[in-house]
Amino acid sequence: MSNVYDLIIIGAGPAGITASVYAARKRMRFLVITKDIGGQTAWSGEIENYTGYQFISGAELAAKFEEHMRKYSIEVKEGEEVMEVRKKDSIVLIKTGKGEYETKIVIIASGKKSRELGVPGEQEFKNKGLTYCATCDGPLFTGKDVAVIGGGNSALDATLQLMNIAKRVYLINITSGLTGDQIMAEKIKRNEKVSILNNARVTAILGEKLVKSIKIEQDTNEQNIAVEGVFVEIGLTPNSGFANEVDKNKSGEIKVNCHNETNVSGIFAAGDVTDVPEKQIIIAAGEGAKACLSAFKYLAIH
Ligand SMILES: Cc1cc2nc3c(=O)[nH]c(=O)nc-3n(C[C@H](O)[C@H](O)[C@H](O)COP(=O)(O)OP(=O)(O)OC[C@H]3O[C@@H](n4cnc5c(N)ncnc54)[C@H](O)[C@@H]3O)c2cc1C
Repeated sequence: MSNVYDLIIIGAGPAGITASVYAARKRMRFLVITKDIGGQTAWSGEIENYTGYQFISGAELAAKFEEHMRKYSIEVKEGEEVMEVRKKDSIVLIKTGKGEYETKIVIIASGKKSRELGVPGEQEFKNKGLTYCATCDGPLFTGKDVAVIGGGNSALDATLQLMNIAKRVYLINITSGLTGDQIMAEKIKRNEKVSILNNARVTAILGEKLVKSIKIEQDTNEQNIAVEGVFVEIGLTPNSGFANEVDKNKSGEIKVNCHNETNVSGIFAAGDVTDVPEKQIIIAAGEGAKACLSAFKYLAIH
């Protein structure tokens, strides 16, 4: 048998997993290459907008996605990072940290990752009190004072989780008011454990072996706030750096048409990594399904 796959799917978040279920049902010869299973869904706290589940935790939904994928005997390279995607003649070459693969079609479903603050101390205290995932690391800060940096939905979601666990939560927001969903903002404003600091900018993370405080600038005043945990929740950036040949918008999102085609024939993309408006689980899953069906049609005529 040739070493060339029909399809390689990069990523196993909602978009990649859904594409894989469709590909299995179409009996395509394919492979999934992914750093992890579940993607951002696994970091989400409470999910109340995935049809069919009035309430489900992110971890539970990610586990259900994985269970659905594993029902088919799908070849999955888990823990493998794609470094390069390149078209050569009619084949797409994929280079990872562990090997090289050839395929007729690729679906890039690599989603997004957390944006960094870019202040002194951030790199030094990563995983030493500073984290980008409240769902994963929140329980480590039970009964402690923590800061959440940001004011959008990610920051509000983190604050909602942490206010049930931590002793006090400082929500450090650079703009004049919270920009995330009103329902979440109202719940947070009513909670006495949360102090919201608007117009406030973090300028440094301080500590010794572990985080001890953050330095903030609010209006023209500078102050240190003693915290043991810092949750950076200032948005996301697309995982698209490895795909140099495809057109992207100025945010780095891969441009796709309504069939999930990029400008390069045989390279499709789906979910949060693309310029499709609105980044939601149900949208990413739908886009993954659509990308796979488009890929299947492409295979039939190429
Ligand atoms: C805190 C938080 C809360 C949220 N809450 C909700 C909510 O309540 N409801 C809702 O609908 N949406 C919510 N979202 C958004 C939702 O999670 C995303 O829209 C959705 O997960 C996007 O799916 P995706 O498959 O496109 O990408 P992702 O979920 O980002 O998955 C990307 C996948 O690609 C893999 N990957 C990345 N780079 C590479 C690489 N180079 N090589 C190999 N693999 C790679 C990753 O490991 C991962 O498996 C939330 C997001 C966050 C961060």
